[in-house]
Amino acid sequence: MKAGNSLLSGMGATVFAVFSALAAEHRAINLGQGFPDDRGPEDVLEVAARSLLEDSNQYAPMMGLPILRQALAEHGRRFYGLSFDPDREIMATSGATEALAACLLGLIEPGDEIVLIEPFYDSYLPIIQLAGGVARTVRLEPPSWSLTRENLARAFSSKTKAIVLNNPMNPAGKVFSRDELEMIAECVIAHDAYAVCDEVYEHIVFDGKPHIPLITLPGMRDRCLKVASAGKIFSLTGWKIGAVSGCERLLHPASRAHQYLTFSSAPNLQKAVAYGLNKDDAYFSELASTMQARRDRLRQGLQSIGFDVLPTEGAYFLIVDIRSTGFDDDVAFCRHITTKAGVAAIPVSAFYAEAPTKQLVRFCFCKQDSVLDEAVARLRAHFSPSPRSPCLE
Ligand code: PMP
Ligand code: GLN
Repeated sequence: MKAGNSLLSGMGATVFAVFSALAAEHRAINLGQGFPDDRGPEDVLEVAARSLLEDSNQYAPMMGLPILRQALAEHGRRFYGLSFDPDREIMATSGATEALAACLLGLIEPGDEIVLIEPFYDSYLPIIQLAGGVARTVRLEPPSWSLTRENLARAFSSKTKAIVLNNPMNPAGKVFSRDELEMIAECVIAHDAYAVCDEVYEHIVFDGKPHIPLITLPGMRDRCLKVASAGKIFSLTGWKIGAVSGCERLLHPASRAHQYLTFSSAPNLQKAVAYGLNKDDAYFSELASTMQARRDRLRQGLQSIGFDVLPTEGAYFLIVDIRSTGFDDDVAFCRHITTKAGVAAIPVSAFYAEAPTKQLVRFCFCKQDSVLDEAVARLRAHFSPSPRSPCLE
């Protein structure tokens, strides 16, 4: 029999699916796949529930409900001084995953080069490859994950169509500085390229740092597609409502991909997200401060057991260097703690095209305090008296 698509047929399940399944099988606390265990804002849930019963449940407009596009435009104005035309420059999608796929499929011609900053979120590379693009990676090194002009420039060429910039960055927890963003903007402009800006964690930035969308830098308004996720803004990852904002010339091809990928997404959820985006500033600052407190709680807990924890400036994740535990393979370590200690985490090697190291593991901290405390207690009991002597029964 003929084989399916050669790229997809050869792929396994994503690292998130694998470790969530292993966590469920072993009743482990799941600090692997990034999803909050909050209910999400009650008023947003109520709008969705009411709309499900009272409004139309037929296809929403392909570009998204007007009320949602208006709210996204207003959100861009309120937080970043951006002015997007809701009728021509904003598109609602089925999560950021679909938004990213639509942007990349809309931009890439076979043979185009796409710059990825490594480590990178797992969906980017397969979509680039499916579109016939070629990824060129710029590798950032822990613990600072700094971007240098030299390394960035090396990844760009006359064939570069776009860079994918994930800021704040999963899994590294890095927030790009203005200097770094300026370097990226310079390279993009110098190569007549574009930027697909995955900013799903835009409201989860810590220690008073600002989130600076690349699209706000000089010369970038017509070169960036800015991707958002309501899943992250409202701790409702199951809803899969996302959005793309950007100039009409770039959004148009992305919308042509979107109309054949999903066409549209659940209208009641779109309406509730529109409502949520209009919440007062306190909602957004509390989201960041709550997540920051959780970051600090898990970091202190992991450090108190003796783990070597890297700094995190944004997003949901802490990275731990596992060498002090005697392990030298992140996948083996994650399998070990999921099955033997009852805590799941994600191997960071999954975020590389070819991992240079297998010594880093990602723990997700967007959980209730009691869950984080229990996870630390389980790890402490397992690695007691110190991480140097894991109980490898
Ligand atoms: N980009 C990054 C960096 C992510 O971490 C995620 C997943 N949480 C996504 C995109 C996908 O977002 P969504 O769930 O809205 O599809
Ligand atoms: N973004 C989530 C993470 O990094 C996973 C989303 C998914 O499972 N596809 O953990």
